[in-house]
Amino acid sequence: MSSIYADAKYQDVSQETKQSLFDQVKGDMRWHTTLYGCYECGICVASCPSARFYDFSPRVYAQIMAREDVSTFYELLNDSIWDCSQCFSCTRCPRQNNPGGIITIMREVAVKNGLESAKTALKAYSRIIYKVMSTGTQVSPDMLQPDFFPDWGPDVAAVSHNLNTWRRAIPPETLHTTSLAWDVSEQTQVELYLIWKMTGNLEIIENLDEGLFMILSEVMEEVLDDNGYQLDDVEVIDGV
Ligand code: SF4
Ligand code: SF4
Repeated sequence: MSSIYADAKYQDVSQETKQSLFDQVKGDMRWHTTLYGCYECGICVASCPSARFYDFSPRVYAQIMAREDVSTFYELLNDSIWDCSQCFSCTRCPRQNNPGGIITIMREVAVKNGLESAKTALKAYSRIIYKVMSTGTQVSPDMLQPDFFPDWGPDVAAVSHNLNTWRRAIPPETLHTTSLAWDVSEQTQVELYLIWKMTGNLEIIENLDEGLFMILSEVMEEVLDDNGYQLDDVEVIDGV
């Protein structure tokens, strides 16, 4: 009998590995606040925007986790966890379950373990990850380009065309630049870089996207070096 994963876009792994991933989710410190049993009432499904557009159901997460169905858990971990919009409308559950919270933890486990599904899902966000981790700001105005946000319609093209004018029209805290959302001091940057390294986030990026890791390391090393730190000498703190 052929594997149920024969046509899947992800690799099958041993039951032991699946169990280990499952245990990582259940070992998360937030786990005990996410699941209290399930009535199968479907209220979470009715409130879920992703359930309207995808073959996706928050109820399935509550049920497979409650039943400890490790094989289905592994399927979801490799696929539909990325269909969740993380809106948490599902928390209107009468049992006070939090399927969106279960999915949050599952996504983190997928990222930390460098699963292919995580690499694929995060590829589209590499520019945002770079911006947040290198500058400490979120999406900057110069990222408002039509090719980056095709689903935002024609208004993005109009805004990006007149970006400098728009930026000059709002308060001076913006520094009238388009490459930063707001100014972040060098000291804050140094602290952020140390936090990314000490919490293991840089290692996770290296695992997911080596090219992005190289560019980020280069930027960080320069700033840290100017402030008396060597990136390679900063140790990751276990258990953070
Ligand atoms: S958090 Fe995810 S599962 Fe919950 S309602 Fe929103 S999209 Fe659906
Ligand atoms: S709303 Fe809560 S109890 Fe109802 S199906 Fe969803 S998780 Fe289960």
